[in-house]
Amino acid sequence: MTEEPKESGPVSARTGAVGPREAARLVGEAPGPTLIAVGGIHGNEPGGVEAALRCVARMRAVRTVGEVVVFRGNMGGLAQKKRYHVRDLNRVWREATVARLEGKARAELDPEEVEQVELLAAIRGAIARARGQVYLVDLHTTSAAGVPFVIFGDTLPQRRFVRPLPLPLVIGLEEQVDGVLAEYWTRQGCITFSVEGGQHDDPKSVDNLEATLILAAEAAGLFAKGALDTRADYKLLEGRRGHLPPVMEVVERHAITADDGFKMAPGFRNLDHARKGQLLASDKNGELRAHEDGIVILPLYQAQGNDGFFWGRKVSEARLRASERIRELHLDRVLRFLPGVTRDKHHPSRLLVDRRIARLYPLDVFHVFGYRRFREHGDFLAVERQPG
Ligand SMILES: [Zn+2]
Repeated sequence: MTEEPKESGPVSARTGAVGPREAARLVGEAPGPTLIAVGGIHGNEPGGVEAALRCVARMRAVRTVGEVVVFRGNMGGLAQKKRYHVRDLNRVWREATVARLEGKARAELDPEEVEQVELLAAIRGAIARARGQVYLVDLHTTSAAGVPFVIFGDTLPQRRFVRPLPLPLVIGLEEQVDGVLAEYWTRQGCITFSVEGGQHDDPKSVDNLEATLILAAEAAGLFAKGALDTRADYKLLEGRRGHLPPVMEVVERHAITADDGFKMAPGFRNLDHARKGQLLASDKNGELRAHEDGIVILPLYQAQGNDGFFWGRKVSEARLRASERIRELHLDRVLRFLPGVTRDKHHPSRLLVDRRIARLYPLDVFHVFGYRRFREHGDFLAVERQPG
């Protein structure tokens, strides 16, 4: 059994932090929600920690409730300005991985496993102290420049949490990747999102992350509306979003392998519009053109990666409201009665779709109900959503 690291060391008078992983802690005057901010889960992204520290400093000036706590993600990575040493600390958050780590002696762990065990203990500690809803925000920056945006798992409580943020909200991207921190803590009952603040070394990225986190703290109810002036934060992010749609969803992942000869067409920035017929990329089979108007999400211009790009589209306010209403009414039960669809007995949030039959109706119907994780599962397609 791994020894759980204890919260130890003196409490910093300036930041309220306990121990080195904790960058700051602010305990409010009355019980209330807990907001956990994680920065630098990728060690080359120190901006998140700095942004969170600024937020806590601002909140110290007003009456707060509940608790705000800031954790450093990959401390070894942050110290060396490296994304990670052995493994990506934002791809390891699975129940099975956590259980395996807890059975290992500390001496057997690689650098990121040590980070994970410590971060796990730190977050669990914050949750154990919590006397209200726990929110978790994971703060990131990117290698390429671009408009900041929010990624979140498509559950109703998470939709409600991110809606007040004036940034592009991207639905269905988190579900494309396995082992993400935010998704793991959603499954543990937290309300979460991740935010990409902009380019790693751009000071504006820290401003973007600070504005996002302070608005999230306001939305979570850490301080009374109006107690802190957040109008400038709102305007800043609104300006960054410009004319981009407030909400978009991923409808397709263009997965690639090393021998596809994939080449993204030049000039796409993240969240760029593409017109029907526009050249998106080419590979060994020829040109790849947009089959409809849509949005290019995270185009791949570096050599490594399995995602060529994601294909998305704007989600209208009407469609958002409709899908929320449908879920509130639990109409998703009807999905089980679609031909070729059965519920996975072992996973209540997973449906198994017989593809020979399911070809008759668009898989898009699952999106409406929050089922956004599509995985091959033998002859079936496993279609899953996040619980909550
Ligand atoms: Zn990152």
